[in-house]
Amino acid sequence: MNYNDFFEQALTKLHDERRYRVFADLERLAGRFPHAVWHSPEGPRDVVIWCSNDYLGMGQHPKVIGAMVEAASRMGTGAGGTRNIAGTHHPLVELERELADLHRKEAALLFTSGYVSNQTGIATIARMLPNCLILSDALNHNSMIEGVRQSGCDKVVWRHNDLAHLEELLRAAPAGRPKLIAFESLYSMDGDVAPIHKICDLAERYGAMTYIDEVHAVGMYGPRGGGIAERDNAMQRIDVIEGTLAKAFGCLGGYITGSRALVDAVRSYAPGFIFTTSLPPAICAAATAAIKHLKTSQWERDRHQDRAGRVKSVLNAAGLPVMPSTTHIVPVFVGDPEKCKAASDMLLADHGIYIQPINYPTVPRGMERLRITPSPYHDDALIDRLTEALVQVWDELDLPKRNPLALAAE
Ligand SMILES: *Cc1c(COP(=O)(O)O)cnc(C)c1O
Repeated sequence: MNYNDFFEQALTKLHDERRYRVFADLERLAGRFPHAVWHSPEGPRDVVIWCSNDYLGMGQHPKVIGAMVEAASRMGTGAGGTRNIAGTHHPLVELERELADLHRKEAALLFTSGYVSNQTGIATIARMLPNCLILSDALNHNSMIEGVRQSGCDKVVWRHNDLAHLEELLRAAPAGRPKLIAFESLYSMDGDVAPIHKICDLAERYGAMTYIDEVHAVGMYGPRGGGIAERDNAMQRIDVIEGTLAKAFGCLGGYITGSRALVDAVRSYAPGFIFTTSLPPAICAAATAAIKHLKTSQWERDRHQDRAGRVKSVLNAAGLPVMPSTTHIVPVFVGDPEKCKAASDMLLADHGIYIQPINYPTVPRGMERLRITPSPYHDDALIDRLTEALVQVWDELDLPKRNPLALAAE
């Protein structure tokens, strides 16, 4: 077999399906977010980033940078091994304490990413329960799906946020069978939110455990940045709250929080935790600084919501097909993979605006979109420039002016 040909063919298939991904060569500028340098084929150019998951700009916050630099200078760069070998360095102990407090849980456990925390967290929890049935929301993130798969347990998928369907599936399972309901609080492609209390009602009625991914909500919702569950006063009803340090907290890493016994069991049984080097002290110290800051500062959260609201209303007024979102995510409907990529390319090359195209498999075919994430640092002038650029691109590519949900309502 010619192995290399095989890989070439696999790539050709992606090109043919218009699914081949190209990553922009960008350089973020601390202190100037959302401005960045794009290393274009013609050389460096100034651009404005409109799709960052560093939602609150904490990745450039002086306190966060300061904590990272200070910790690296004092303790060096690496962690020196897995926690079994190197022990738990002190900034990690402090970070886990901070996370447990954030979600009002007994304990927290840190992983090298949110992806790993979901994958190994769900797999380990479900595998430990005898004959566990996993009930998974249809729009759950790939990391959760991989966790479910890796657990080897039976799974049933409930239609996205559909409580009647979830109840039907819970009722169909034997009463005594262990069950794990896995879902997200805020779905980041549509910007909609799960009915957390109603899911917990069902979990209690049918004796199921609950596992929630708050990756797109921690730092941004709730009076202390504990997420949608904190905002809705539901944290105490959920067994496992998972989150990331890489989005609103501007660093890297993922975690789960829960009861002392559950967290200790995952610590003791999860291969994706045990056999990998822990995050370094500098990352942990920086994340702790970001979490601590957002526990008391409301400015970022208020300004973030204000900016998202303004972008939605200005784009709507300009006749652009903003999809209905109840949160800080502003999806704009395109509905075609090639045009979606072309729109993104034109925004970057002609307008100095970076918004990556969202195509299949991240969203279903026919639902391609641009996903805009305004931050506290996108001012009115930037919003106006974005609007003009989008209108121009929409005209040039003859893109739809209505989103499919608005069409369906007519
Ligand atoms: C980004 C993301 C993750 C993974 O988090 P990382 O820290 O980036 O690995 C998990 N769940 C959801 C819903 C995500 O969007």
